[in-house]
Amino acid sequence: MDPVVTRFPPSPTGYLHVGGARTALFNWLYARHTAGRFVLRLEDTDVQRSTQASVDAIFEALQWLGIDWDDGPYYQTQRVDVYRAHIQKLVDRGHAYYCTCTPEDIEAMRNEAKARGDKPRYDGRCRDKHRPPSEDAVIRFKAPRTGTTVIEDVVKGPIVFQNDELDDFIICRSDGMPMYNLAVVVDDITMGINTVIRGDDHVNNTPKQILLYKALGAPLPVFAHVPMVLGSDRARLSKRHGAMSVTEYRDMGYLPDAVLNYLVRLGWSHGDQEFFTRDELIAKFSLEHIGKSAGVFDPQKLLALNADHIKTASIETLALHLKPFLGALGVDNPDPAYLGAAIETLQTRSKTLLEMADGAVFYFQADVVYEEKAARKFLKPAALEPLRFLIAQLEAQGVFNDASIEAAFVQTMEKTGLKLGKIAQPVRVALTGKTVSPGIFEIIRVLGKEKTLARLRRAADTIAAHGD
Ligand code: GLU
Repeated sequence: MDPVVTRFPPSPTGYLHVGGARTALFNWLYARHTAGRFVLRLEDTDVQRSTQASVDAIFEALQWLGIDWDDGPYYQTQRVDVYRAHIQKLVDRGHAYYCTCTPEDIEAMRNEAKARGDKPRYDGRCRDKHRPPSEDAVIRFKAPRTGTTVIEDVVKGPIVFQNDELDDFIICRSDGMPMYNLAVVVDDITMGINTVIRGDDHVNNTPKQILLYKALGAPLPVFAHVPMVLGSDRARLSKRHGAMSVTEYRDMGYLPDAVLNYLVRLGWSHGDQEFFTRDELIAKFSLEHIGKSAGVFDPQKLLALNADHIKTASIETLALHLKPFLGALGVDNPDPAYLGAAIETLQTRSKTLLEMADGAVFYFQADVVYEEKAARKFLKPAALEPLRFLIAQLEAQGVFNDASIEAAFVQTMEKTGLKLGKIAQPVRVALTGKTVSPGIFEIIRVLGKEKTLARLRRAADTIAAHGD
């Protein structure tokens, strides 16, 4: 069998949204699963709405998601000659003809059809007139008037269209620019695409495209029309359901693998498994398990999945994705080993990288910033004696490891008669500025002796300076 060739052909009229990213992902995964090829094409013929900024945004989002392509990017605006050659072939073979009907003629035809209770459409007036090319002539496809056109859809099963419902649609405008369906089919044929996975909002284009394939003598690709992604109210997903752009999720601190995992589950399943690594998805993805019903986008589920991916990601991966967030908080070029140790203490406690960065900042502050409430509650005179005693115990430790740190606390508890909780909270505020943080033993281990002692001394000095 020929290798699978899939494609993603976005129209660059905006950012890459969640639905588009899912389509890209399905095509990419299927190509990777089958060791086939994945083609990227920009359908930029709508020059009014297509922008370079959108092209760049789409590349950026695909790259962030780790969706790479083997072929392209192609731009439809650079392929007009290829489309024209195919249009000429259709005219030469009698599958297309020049039509000189004016917009007023068309309007009158539509009104007549409506008056008869028919679907408004072109009545085929120029179909057999053999008109020559002329400046004001469009080119129409000679569609069959009887019979049916069937999409053998691998997701939805056979979808039957009556040919008498279709009219002789335009394939080339009078200014020589090809129309959308023609360009798509010529691209898919000439790029060797044999598997088309796309949103089911394109189902109504597909019979026209099938007729063009047949007229051009090309084999049909496999079609898989995937149900749209819906919001929680079951309306088609849109901005009012929350962040829609893939890179917004990057900026909110999501890992690309978590977004990938979530997107794929919006329309594909493998038993009741929810968590997948990228490699697992490539190994398991298949067209058979694309669902017939629409996936509902649930931001809470995505958040939970992100937390799971953060828990299982390698420290290197987390460090890579965390750095921009730390940079935004003023932490630049952290020492890799120190950062890695800090990440380990936060990995099971962070749902997003934004949260992780917030939680990590104290590790890097020269002077910890005390949260006002935390300082008021815990850096009080009563904490001074235990803090000073603990400082002395820690100073006395030759080696600074889990056992010696714990011993210093045990000695402090014995000396002061306080429970660990009573000592831990002032220590936590001294070390982190906050009342919520990873475990204090872990923090002390990461900070090391010098930083720990400096922070504890500063807290003790702060209490002493305020007096009682
Ligand atoms: N350019 C179309 C879109 O962005 C995709 C067309 C197709 O997949 O055939 O929706």
